[in-house]
Amino acid sequence: MNALSDRVLLVEDDASIRRFLRAALEDEGLQVSEADSVRRGLIEAASRQPQLVILDLGLPDADGKQFIVELRSWSEAPVIVLSARDREHEKVAALDAGADDYLTKPFGVPELMARVRAHLRRGRGAATSHGQVASFGAVQVDLARHEVTRSGEPVHLTPTEFRLLAALIRGNGRVLTHRQLLLEVWGPGYADRAHYLRIYMAQLRQKLESDPALPLHLITELQVGYRLAGLN
Ligand code: CA
Repeated sequence: MNALSDRVLLVEDDASIRRFLRAALEDEGLQVSEADSVRRGLIEAASRQPQLVILDLGLPDADGKQFIVELRSWSEAPVIVLSARDREHEKVAALDAGADDYLTKPFGVPELMARVRAHLRRGRGAATSHGQVASFGAVQVDLARHEVTRSGEPVHLTPTEFRLLAALIRGNGRVLTHRQLLLEVWGPGYADRAHYLRIYMAQLRQKLESDPALPLHLITELQVGYRLAGLN
């Protein structure tokens, strides 16, 4: 693993935040390029082919979501969006458009760097990560056989519980929005039934977490969706 070769594109119109983020990213040995608008960001992304993009959603020339939609037409590079605390709907729309993760301003450098490292690692492993057997904590999931064990003991999941778990595994640690999960597990027509997710996530936690009240793997992203943490 050679972190020096990783290029990060920072799309943010606030020069002081760019300076602070550039310093933190360079401390990690990353190569940083910057843009202050959606238009410049797309030009930089096309010419530098970054492994990761950090994108502020409030940009002067266009909605940051537009950047994601255009980038996604030719690049799979992970996108971490930065959003203001009072703009929840923007953040969810960005994830629905294909962003991978988000941080709410103000955020700490250690938190950002943990996300950056995780997404870069995932990007490197992308070609090999989707095997037929996934594991997290004491849980093993055979995706082809629909078999789940916990500490070696078989766990019975209903077909819907299994589809939800499989969707989270395929998300590979990404934040998946309520809408994305509902469409994938239940299908069109169910996109607004977030209460289904609450019920089924509670059931999965009962069956798979050591302490369902303090889940370590089946994580709630408040008002956004869910993700699976600690996937091996
Ligand atoms: Ca901004």
